[in-house]
Amino acid sequence: MSTLTSVERDTTIFDLINKEQHRQESGIELIASENFTSPQVMEAAGSVLTNKYAEGLPGKRYYGGCEVVDEIEQIAIDRLKSLFGATWANVQPHSGAQANTAVFLACLNPGDKIMGFNLAHGGHLSHGSPVNISGKYFQPVFYGVEAETGLIDWDKVEKQALQEKPKLLICGASAYSRDWDYARLRNIADQVGALLLADISHPAGLIAKGLLNDPFDHCHIVTTTTHKTLRGPRGGVIMMRNDFENPFGITTAKGKVRMMSSLLDSGVFPGTQGGPLEHIIAAKAIAFGEALTDGYANYATQVAKNAQAMATAFIDKGYKIISGGTDNHLMLIDLRTKNGVDYGLTGRLAENTLIKADITINKNMVPFDDKSPMVTSGIRVGTAAITTRGMVESDMARIVDLIDMVLMNHDQEAKIASAKTEINTWMKQFPLYV
Ligand SMILES: *Cc1c(COP(=O)(O)O)cnc(C)c1O
Repeated sequence: MSTLTSVERDTTIFDLINKEQHRQESGIELIASENFTSPQVMEAAGSVLTNKYAEGLPGKRYYGGCEVVDEIEQIAIDRLKSLFGATWANVQPHSGAQANTAVFLACLNPGDKIMGFNLAHGGHLSHGSPVNISGKYFQPVFYGVEAETGLIDWDKVEKQALQEKPKLLICGASAYSRDWDYARLRNIADQVGALLLADISHPAGLIAKGLLNDPFDHCHIVTTTTHKTLRGPRGGVIMMRNDFENPFGITTAKGKVRMMSSLLDSGVFPGTQGGPLEHIIAAKAIAFGEALTDGYANYATQVAKNAQAMATAFIDKGYKIISGGTDNHLMLIDLRTKNGVDYGLTGRLAENTLIKADITINKNMVPFDDKSPMVTSGIRVGTAAITTRGMVESDMARIVDLIDMVLMNHDQEAKIASAKTEINTWMKQFPLYV
């Protein structure tokens, strides 16, 4: 008999997992980077594949017994390639930040200059934050949005790139609600001899379904997380539509110039990771398979429609959305004024008040914020998770009504409690896993 049969069930942890499931099911989830995966994605993530070591790539492993995981990982790669029209992909990065770090290792030397979107304007910390390896080991410079419009001015980006001459130009963000001009960015990158990386972690699912500009023809390398709009397990991937000989003159032992794909594979393993998480790779394969269906195309379309409806509802109430609206699944709301009136709201106050009504959002810096990152003047909301639950445009106005009611009554505990009761009852109409 296996020693596992006598293992006692860990009720401490499973009680907490049940509690977390209840939390997810009873509230309104508006965190733009979150979503709900399908039961089969979670089943694969919790499977026996977690037992397997598989350092290396399908067919080229450092361990025996990899025949089955080779098939699984190859299916994940093939499905991902067809989802985005890529010709090369690595599905092993443990997270989005890991995917970016692997790209940096493959493309840069320590101290090289990178140019990314300003963190304080909605960028991601893995694009050069001083507290992240990207900002400690490389030399970051940032472009941002215009104070007036909340939009990126591509002429300014070009001017700055010509001055700074970065080795790597990075586009993509965590809190930018507008689309990206990848053709223009490539033109800028080419002028300064930079490689262009698109990190599509947030809008990946919308890009896959043709709802936003396609970065693949213009950007040398594309990274994304798999757990945001893509609705897979927590993880990252790296892709290219067109492989190319690395421009750094790095050759193989036989003197042949190494392809970029080979440097990127090495950047993941052994560069920044050890054994891949084959259980997560299986879950990724399932999620990519789901994303290839018409059902997911309808989902992605609805995510965008819901974001439009939500933005309209906020604007109708007098809230200020940075850039005036959204092209994707998220928006950034500046709470400093509503209809021109200062109600003393901050991102922190909004987050802490809304959670009492079981509405989950995150506080977020707005561009040119005068408050600290722990306080902030704004909130970020997104429609990926609530759309998975089956909500449609008409539900967005009701959500915004509830948010507005709670924010305008942030010191009225009874009103907040009644909003919570209404929300818990309402959410029963959108069953998730029960
Ligand atoms: C979420 C995000 C990441 C990081 O993903 P993790 O899986 O949390 O490491 C990277 N880049 C961007 C733009 C993101 O929004």
